[in-house]
Amino acid sequence: MNKKICLNRCHFPVTSLGYGNRVGIWLQGCSIKCDGCIVPETWDIEPKHVVSVEALLAAIKPWLQCADGVTISGGEPFEQPAPLMSLIEGVRSVCPGDLLVYSGFTWSQLRRRFGPIIANIDVLVAGPYIARLRTEGCLFGSSNQEIRILSPLAERRYTAEVLWARSVNVAIDGTSVRLAGVLPGKALVTIQQTLRTAGFTGSLTHDPL
Ligand code: SF4
Repeated sequence: MNKKICLNRCHFPVTSLGYGNRVGIWLQGCSIKCDGCIVPETWDIEPKHVVSVEALLAAIKPWLQCADGVTISGGEPFEQPAPLMSLIEGVRSVCPGDLLVYSGFTWSQLRRRFGPIIANIDVLVAGPYIARLRTEGCLFGSSNQEIRILSPLAERRYTAEVLWARSVNVAIDGTSVRLAGVLPGKALVTIQQTLRTAGFTGSLTHDPL
């Protein structure tokens, strides 16, 4: 395996995007460009985003060994299908937990085009973000998006409590603050204004589509 993948960032433990303590992997690159997307910084690919899948897996291996699962988001993960598959296979070889993947493609598009990848996923959150359908559910950003529970492990884990729990993770790096989780629009604006007043650059680095 020596595939290259475009990566935005990784974090651990992420507790706001699925069951338990998770490795969060945000891939870089999205051509869907939903109106109202609040992570437009994940759209464009630059050389700095390119890493080898092997190096990424080696870097997160200690996390994978103790995580309850892995969440892959973006950007649009399925716009890198071959590296995504390699990443998933590598994750699966180390982490026995569940794998949750976000996509801006619809469930029917994904099923038609990416069946072999989907066969390796436990939970899929599918569909573009539509701002006028914005919701405040835990795992998705707008009500058109579908959560597909695809394995017995996910059926056991993804109870209503997990699906609807509202949680956010905050990572501070220098003067950059990154949030992971789904926030109501007003809360995001309040947080951004507060951070700006305090001299921070604040952005929501993940909206679960
Ligand atoms: S919400 Fe997701 S699919 Fe839509 S433009 Fe943003 S990153 Fe792309």
